[in-house]
Amino acid sequence: MSDIAERLNSIKSTLPEGVELVAVSKFHPVAVLREAYNAGQRVFGESRVQELVDKIPEMPDDTRWHFIGHLQTNKLKYLIGNVSLIESVDSLRLLEMIDDLSFRKGVITRVLMQLHVAAEETKFGFTPAELIDWFATRGFESLKATHICGLMGMATNTDDDERISSDFRTVAETRKRIIEVAPDLRGFDILSMGMSDDYQAAIAEGSTHVRIGSAIFGQRVY
Ligand SMILES: *Cc1c(COP(=O)(O)O)cnc(C)c1O
Repeated sequence: MSDIAERLNSIKSTLPEGVELVAVSKFHPVAVLREAYNAGQRVFGESRVQELVDKIPEMPDDTRWHFIGHLQTNKLKYLIGNVSLIESVDSLRLLEMIDDLSFRKGVITRVLMQLHVAAEETKFGFTPAELIDWFATRGFESLKATHICGLMGMATNTDDDERISSDFRTVAETRKRIIEVAPDLRGFDILSMGMSDDYQAAIAEGSTHVRIGSAIFGQRVY
């Protein structure tokens, strides 16, 4: 078995049933993704549009792609219709553009709203209060071709385990609050949280999707 297959299998064996593994393959060549594919992996996460678009035709048709990076609206047209989930919707303007373009192309785009809970100011996303308010005032009702499937969040980059857990807890609690203020929401089930160094803490707080890169593929060369 290849190293990648071995690491993939050993991570998968630790995931509880129902937790989906997104293999974050950004900055790694297609040959490496194929190794993971051959070991059974189907869902891959990428953070740059051009890189993702280049990889799509090189991988088997049943590969599912999640976009997980900050998305510039001028590049959106390359993603719509080509990805199974955009995990990183970090502004209402981006959401509206996704919806318009999806509608015009005749496709439904599945997305997650990205929450900003970490201490770092550089991380993108909505505050919990902003998002709860937007759902409470039923902003989602005007969407024509977008299905909001849940939330994505990143914890503070720190050795403080309590802070990490509390960041993930905030994401999970925000999802609950949103369901309280908009009880008719359907399919708002995904909590995408947890990366190589903190996915166990994320699962303990209710993560349904873990996004793991370096623990599978090794260090990235930027
Ligand atoms: C790169 C990245 C990951 C994976 O990080 P690792 O530490 O390599 O597991 C997960 N989520 C997002 C949003 C990323 O950009």
